[in-house]
Formats: sequence, C-alpha cells, structure tokens
Amino acid sequence: MVTVHEPLGKTVGPKTAKIFGEAFEIETIGDLLRHYPRRYQRHGELTDLASLRIGEHVTVLAQVARVTSRPMGHRKGQIIEVTVTDGVGSLILTFFTVRGNSYTRQLPLGAHGLFSGEVSTFRNRRQLVHPDFELINAAAAGTELAAEYAAELIPVYPATRKLPSWKIAKSVRTVLDVLDIGDDPLPAEVRERYRLVGLAEAIRGIHLPLDDQDRKRAVDRLKWDEAFVVQTALAQRRRASAALPAMPRPAEADGLAAAFDERLPFTLTDGQREAGLTIATDLGCAHPMHRLLQGEVGSGKTVIAVRAMLQVVDAGGQAALLAPTEVLAQQHHRSVTEMLGPLGQAGRLGGAEKSTRVTLLTGALGASARREALLDAASGAAGIVIGTHALLQERVQFADLGLVVVDEQHRFGVEQRDVLREKAQDGRPHVLVMTATPIPRTVAMTVYGDLDVSTLSELPAGRPSIATHVVPAADKPRYLERAWERIREEVERGQQAYVVCPRIGGDDGPGSEPDGDGTGSGGPDGSGPDGSALDGSAEQGPPSAAGRPPLAVLDLAPALEQGPLKAVRLGVLHGRLRPDDKDRIMREFADGAIDVLVATTVVEVGVDVPNATTMVVMDAERFGVSQLHQLRGRVGRGTVAGLCLLVTEAAQESKSRERLHAVAATLDGFKLSRLDLEQRREGDVLGATQAGRQSSLRLLTLLRDEELIVQARGEATTLVDSDPELVRHPGLAAAISDLLGPDQAEFLEKA
Ligand code: ADP
Ligand code: MG
Repeated sequence: MVTVHEPLGKTVGPKTAKIFGEAFEIETIGDLLRHYPRRYQRHGELTDLASLRIGEHVTVLAQVARVTSRPMGHRKGQIIEVTVTDGVGSLILTFFTVRGNSYTRQLPLGAHGLFSGEVSTFRNRRQLVHPDFELINAAAAGTELAAEYAAELIPVYPATRKLPSWKIAKSVRTVLDVLDIGDDPLPAEVRERYRLVGLAEAIRGIHLPLDDQDRKRAVDRLKWDEAFVVQTALAQRRRASAALPAMPRPAEADGLAAAFDERLPFTLTDGQREAGLTIATDLGCAHPMHRLLQGEVGSGKTVIAVRAMLQVVDAGGQAALLAPTEVLAQQHHRSVTEMLGPLGQAGRLGGAEKSTRVTLLTGALGASARREALLDAASGAAGIVIGTHALLQERVQFADLGLVVVDEQHRFGVEQRDVLREKAQDGRPHVLVMTATPIPRTVAMTVYGDLDVSTLSELPAGRPSIATHVVPAADKPRYLERAWERIREEVERGQQAYVVCPRIGGDDGPGSEPDGDGTGSGGPDGSGPDGSALDGSAEQGPPSAAGRPPLAVLDLAPALEQGPLKAVRLGVLHGRLRPDDKDRIMREFADGAIDVLVATTVVEVGVDVPNATTMVVMDAERFGVSQLHQLRGRVGRGTVAGLCLLVTEAAQESKSRERLHAVAATLDGFKLSRLDLEQRREGDVLGATQAGRQSSLRLLTLLRDEELIVQARGEATTLVDSDPELVRHPGLAAAISDLLGPDQAEFLEKA
C-alpha cells in the first residue's frame, strides 16, 4: 500500500517518476492523483480532427484508414504515411524509417488507436510526425491496453511528448491498485448532507469513470474538497485573528472625526453612513479590524477612510494611507488637507485647537522634506501619513500606528499590506482596504476570505450619468474628428477633458514596455525601488488592432496641439515624468489651468477632477474591461454629464469590439468585473492576489460554483467553531497542509 505523501518512484519506478517530475512537477502519489484528465474520449467516438490546431500537442482517438510508403528522396530509408480518420476528416501520421516498414503490421487498417504528437502541416495537410501511439480496440487484443480501455470513457490527460496520455493513465492505474487514500477530509455529515461520494471512489471516478454519471459524482465531490479545504483554512484564520488582541480605538463624541463630519459640504449617502458606522464599531473592538470596503467608482470611499483615520487619531493613534501611484497619493494629500481645513493644521498658524497633521511621504520628496516627513511619522506629530510604496521602506517608523488604509487594494500584493501592518508596535493595527474593482461574492470569499466586506452600491445623489460610445476609427474616420470637436465644445463651455493612450512613446520605441511597471489593474506588486514606479500602464493586451504600435502620449499630444486641439491648453502626464512635474501638472489640471490632459493610465485610479467631463480613450481595445470602467470613472464626477469615447480600430465583429460595446452598455462595475473575470483564466484571478493559491483549485470555478462555495463556507465555519484545531478531523487537517502547501500555510499563519 502507498499513501499520497510517498514519492511516485516507489510505485511507478524511478525512470517514469523522473519524467513526471520534469514534465509536470509531479513528485508524489498525491500530485499524480491531482493530475486530472483534461477531457474524456468516448469509446468508439473518434476525435473531431477538424478541431486540431497547428502547434498543439494533442492526443486523438482515430481509425487507421490507409498506410503508404515511398522511398526517401536521396537518402536511404522510407517515408511511411499513415492516414487516420475520424470518419469525416483525416490526419497524416508521418514516420521515417531506415529499417523495414513495420507500421503496416503495427497499424492494421480499421484499427482504433490513440495518437499523440504535435500538430504540424505539410503540403497543406495536417500531420503528426512520429507520433506515439497505442491501439485500443479488439484488433490489438493481447496488449494490456485492451483491458485498460474497456470502460466507456477514456481519460485524456494533459500530456507531453515524453509522457503521452496513456502512459499517464497506466501510472494512475498502477497507483490506484495499491493506494491507501487515508482519512477522508470531508466529515461524514457533510458528505451525507450533500450526497457526496467518498474520497477513494471520487479519485477512481475522475481517473477511470465507468460512465458520465460516475465521472460527475467524482467531480462534484472533488470540487467540494477544493472549496471546503480552503474555506476551513480561512475560517481558522478568521477565528485566530478575531482572538488576537489589538488596541481598541473607540469613537469620541467631540473629537476630530465629529468636527470633520460637521465640515462636510454634503450629506453622506445611506451606504456611506452604514459602512462608516460598521468601521467605527470595528475600530472600537479589542481585536484587529480586517475590512474590505468595495464600492463603485466615485461612490465616495475616501471620506469613509478619512473619518476612520480621524477616529484613530482621536484615540491617540496614527493612521497611514497607502496609495498605488504618486499621482493618487499627492491628490489624497491635497484633498484630505483641504477637507480637514484647520483640523489638519496642528502646530501651524490657523490650526484648530484640537487638530492633527497630515504628512505626505513619497519617493519624490527632496531630502529635507523627507527627513521632516519621517520625523513627523516617527514622533507621532503626524496623525495621518499618506504615501506610496515609499511608506513601506524600512526606515519609515510610526510612534503608534493604529490603522492602515490601503487604497485601490487590487494594485497591491498581500505582502505589501503585511509590511505596512508590521510597522505597528504590536504588529496588529486595524486594516481597511478599499477597491473600486468590485469582485463577485465568491471570489471575495476565496481571495479575501479573511476580510469582512462592506459595499457601497449607490453613488452620491445628483451624480450625472456618463454616456459611453465606441468610436470606430478605421471604418468611420469622420467619427474621430467629431470626438475632437466634442472636446473643443466642452472646453468652450469651461469643461475639461482627458485623452488616454496606451503608451508613453518617445524613447520607448515600438514594442517596448508600456508606461510604468506593466501591472495594469489587477496586477500585484512590481514597484520600483523608490516606490514611485507604480504609475499605471496599459494592460499588455492584444496587439493593436491596426497592426501598428499602440498610440503614444508623446506622439499624439503634439499632433493634437498642431491639429484638432490647436486652440486648447494641453498638458501631458505619464509615469516617466519627474514626480514634482506630475504633481504640478495634476495641480494645474485640477485648477483649470490645463484644459485637456493627454495621459497614460496614470489617471486610471482615483483621480478626482469634477470639472472634467469628457474622456477619449485611444486604442481602447488595449485595455481591460475593468480598467476602462475605472478610466471612465474620471468623468461625470461633477454636476455635468460625462462622455466617454472608446476609440478603436478593432474590426466590427471582433471580440475586442464586443468587449468595448459591453463596457459602453453598462455603468455597473459589478457586472463588468464579472465579465472581466470570465475572460481571464481562474489562475490569473487568484494569482493576482495570492500567488500560488491557484494550484489548489483545479475543478472549482469561482464564478460558476457560487452555491457550492457558499455552502462550503457555512459548513467550514461551523466545523471550525466546534473543533478549531481540527483534532477530531485529521483528514481535513492533512488536506489543508497538502492542498495549500508549506508556503501558503505560512501565508495563512502570517495573516
Ligand atoms: P471613490 O469611491 O471612487 O474613491 P471618492 O472618494 O474619490 O470616490 O469620491 C468621489 C467624489 O465624490 C469626491 O469629490 C467626493 O468629495 C465626493 N463625495 C463623496 N461623498 C459624497 C456625498 N455623500 N455627496 C456628494 N459628494 C460626495
Ligand atoms: Mg478612490
């Protein structure tokens, strides 16, 4: 008997085990058992040969139709061509041989076989050169494979040249014959409640299903494992963090937070008030808050963060606000300072009696300004410290860090959140993360399973709408002229506009890096050493529809200046500018000294200039759906309706064009983020936040298995409440350490 932890070599032999390791990083019995078939070939039902793509490594089930041979041109030997068919199309198997032609014997006419190789073309016909093959029908009786493929469904595994699908199947069978599967991670009650088969049966059923029913039962059960194990780990983690002590920072009736509320020039939306109250309560608790505040672009998350920070200041602590870009950090610093007025002028002329200080700390500060900022943070003089990645540097210290706010959380990795957290004395500050890229509930449950979630679903009253149109620049050049005309009209009316390009241009030349660090929205870290590099960028999307390099800010700006936008005051903004230039240009734009800002996606997140009403996005097909939604959120922030024009040369019927129309059709960020997620691979979704986690999800899809995930979370929470250390559930405890691996177990612990 072997257990899942044992190395594969003992069972299948060291040579085969080595190949598994090289091809798929399969080292143990358990790894092999989790190498699930990609699909199943129905016995007797041949592969649709028309579906094969050139360059792909395939395993096909086909029937031998003809074998011919001819001498090889000038050299000794022959070329054997075996034609196999699916009954409609055909595929050529080409073999070169200097010895006799044994293929006629090996591949008798009419035989069914599995053929495995890379699809190439020769004289316009698709072929596999020297494919591996195994016959599987009666004609091949005598080979052990006849028995192997007696079942109705033949598993087809992700395979390589050295390790064809049937060799994998064979190893799996060998393993299954001697396997001791161990304790079932799913408690019997759960299996009964959801009518799930046992683990041993499921493993056998997914690799060697007797029929569709059998396979489905196996998949249902194994999906449960994936959801349940992750949810149990998260439930343990929530429980542990709820038990940790943290400094309570309760609200104070006549503190800065209350004074701030009185200064607000607007009334809070119901959603803001509710989220604000929840956070205020969390902060008053003796264990750390971990809350995600998600809300539509423009829903007013910043005010909530400021109120929370002030509550902590009132309670004697400090708060840090981490922003993903220099531009956004500077804007937050300006707007928070402005919102606070005298409340934020501690120690300065005109400061209120009860007041604090707001300090900016970015990689862009000069030496003396930086020294002052560091001192403010370390001495506690600054109640609120706002900054970029520069905040994460080692020499940044706080007197008493009570709250960490991470804005546009999707731009950061978990590690960065943790670095900042560790700057608190006891390592346990309250944490509020904010994002305008809403995520479906189940994704939140899995990716951010340790966070409580508040959602702002409404926008402040009186927000004008934003109209979005797709502008087909290739087929209707006149439309693009009209776009520039619209900008001129808006400027004449005293409004402002953005023009966004995917690339900076200048030195970068065609095909080089886009602006910033290339993370786009959703990417994890990638910041430069000074922490200022994360200044947005176009996603490395498909090549420009027009087959030319994507449009660049430094090319388009002068062209507009001399052409259609001659009469307006243009400004240029991108990640390669010096930070103080960025700040100056943003300030001029905010003050109305610049009419039109030609920019990269440095303006993607958070930038708030209510007087800007129009946005033109060039080569719009280069951007992701959520990214476009974020960009569009820069307009329609004041009292005048917004207009967003998505300019593209993508063909009318193309997928890219479809995506743009989808963005134009709705302003609902939740809908769009779903669409965005559907178009990415699941691994990317999870990988963006937690590298490695995707390896644990093979069958489960977060978007389609919502009900199951919700059920699993409920069951997991109940179980952890009654058996926090899983002493009565050894199978589950083992599955957690297996499925999450040592790194991720550590990751779970750290948080
Ligand atoms: P986001 O949620 O996208 O970060 P912001 O916090 O930047 O949005 O808020 C967008 C704008 O709405 C800001 O100018 C802010 O002052 C304003 N705002 C916030 N809350 C309200 C409200 N309740 N009523 C009116 N305007 C508001
Ligand atoms: Mg914001």
